[in-house]
Amino acid sequence: MAQAPVVLWFRRDLRLGDHAALLAAAKQSDRVLALYVLDKALIEPSGAPRMAFLLGCLRALDEQLGGRLKVVEGDPAVEVVKAAHEIGASAVHVSADTAPYGRRRDAEVAKALAEKGIDWVETGSSYAVTPGRVSKPDGDPYRVFTPFRRAWGRHGWPRPADTGPSLVDWIEPAGSVSLPKTPSLGEMTLPEPGEEAALRLWEEFLTDGVETYHEDRDRPDLPGTTRLSPYLRWGCVHPRTLLADLAGDERRGVDALRGELCWREFHADVLWHRPETARRNYDRRFDAMPCDTGKAAFEQWCAGRTGYPIVDAGMRQLLAEGWMHNRVRMVVASFLVKDLHLPWRWGARHFMRHLVDGDLASNQLNWQWVAGCGTDAAPYFRIFNPITQGEKFDPSGDYVRRYVPELRDVPGKAVHKLRDRPGDYPEPMVDHAFERRVALERYGAVTGR
Ligand code: FAD
Repeated sequence: MAQAPVVLWFRRDLRLGDHAALLAAAKQSDRVLALYVLDKALIEPSGAPRMAFLLGCLRALDEQLGGRLKVVEGDPAVEVVKAAHEIGASAVHVSADTAPYGRRRDAEVAKALAEKGIDWVETGSSYAVTPGRVSKPDGDPYRVFTPFRRAWGRHGWPRPADTGPSLVDWIEPAGSVSLPKTPSLGEMTLPEPGEEAALRLWEEFLTDGVETYHEDRDRPDLPGTTRLSPYLRWGCVHPRTLLADLAGDERRGVDALRGELCWREFHADVLWHRPETARRNYDRRFDAMPCDTGKAAFEQWCAGRTGYPIVDAGMRQLLAEGWMHNRVRMVVASFLVKDLHLPWRWGARHFMRHLVDGDLASNQLNWQWVAGCGTDAAPYFRIFNPITQGEKFDPSGDYVRRYVPELRDVPGKAVHKLRDRPGDYPEPMVDHAFERRVALERYGAVTGR
């Protein structure tokens, strides 16, 4: 008797190479339905850049599948069951989603499938080591990055799964809806979506970037990082693929990159153990920290009109490209929390709306890390000085001039410490030295230091 077909439900794994769930599906049946569900609960909160990139990735995936991606719209607990039932599938295969909404949704879908006698099979996740798998010898989760990294390295991960588009017969879908129109992005340009683009970028970085990554990764004026974050976000490439290419290579740049990939895994692990930290302070002492509520100040920060050039360049890069350099993300986040004394959640929400790589675990927990209320947090008293950060990490001022046209005629690093304010470039909206003292006083009141 022919085997019953199975469904492969794509979510944050929009690729066909190194796809452990595809391998598991292929082992069960050679006839597979590729499914994607447009779920309002995820689509509505994602901003135009992330949505546009997602749609591009889905189009690229559909092309790789020879036009056989079935797209449906609605509640996954209804739509996945319906799609599986229609083809007489015996199982639905997925890569595990470990974020809070995905976990709740998947529990409901698995239950609804079980009622119809259809199996739910999770294989792998978006991470080299699935969150929740690395723990201290006493079974507790890690709260500090460095020991997590050591344990993560010791735990290890499987070799990339040998998969590709021709592994199975993709079932011709019936009743697929068209993908929505790509939202308008104005003048914003996004990276090319999809698996092929991700792998191309990675190859280029291995040839030209990785050697000096440890030195250049903090320089927003240079193209010193992989720019793979949107692709990792949507699973156009799996971190295991990257780690396999880096295996056994102890060059400093390689080691630094492994460390950054591990930060991504660490934050996902934290969110797995403490899902409430997507909204609440990891360190609950900070619940008592007084925050300001100035909407006008927040809007100035969002628009990149604080009068601090490196902050403004970062906020405008976000609006122009849906991406911001990591060093500048830290500087603008510190400015919001410690100079403007506004809640980190406001900044995190703005980032999630505009970042093409917006990811709940990486975003919320990096924000908390900068705000000092997260796990393994930068000590609260380490308050970034936006002028010296600019001088140190954008030493020629090129980054600022690229994103703040009002300052294009200011030469060299003078762009960070302005004598005059050309055009309508604003005066500093606050005095950093003064606000730093305010932040430290508030911090002391909460922690008793
Ligand atoms: P590379 O330097 O090339 O690093 C390679 C990969 O490692 C990245 O693609 C990313 O997946 C991972 N990585 C690097 N740094 C970090 C980090 N600190 N934390 C977690 N993963 C990391 N990253 C996101 O992917 N989504 C977010 O929503 C997000 N929000 C952030 C918010 C704040 C306030 C801060 C300070 C950082 C945030 N980051 C986020 C982390 C980091 O800024 C980006 O991952 C990085 O800038 C992406 O560029 P890249 O791919 O060139 O990174």
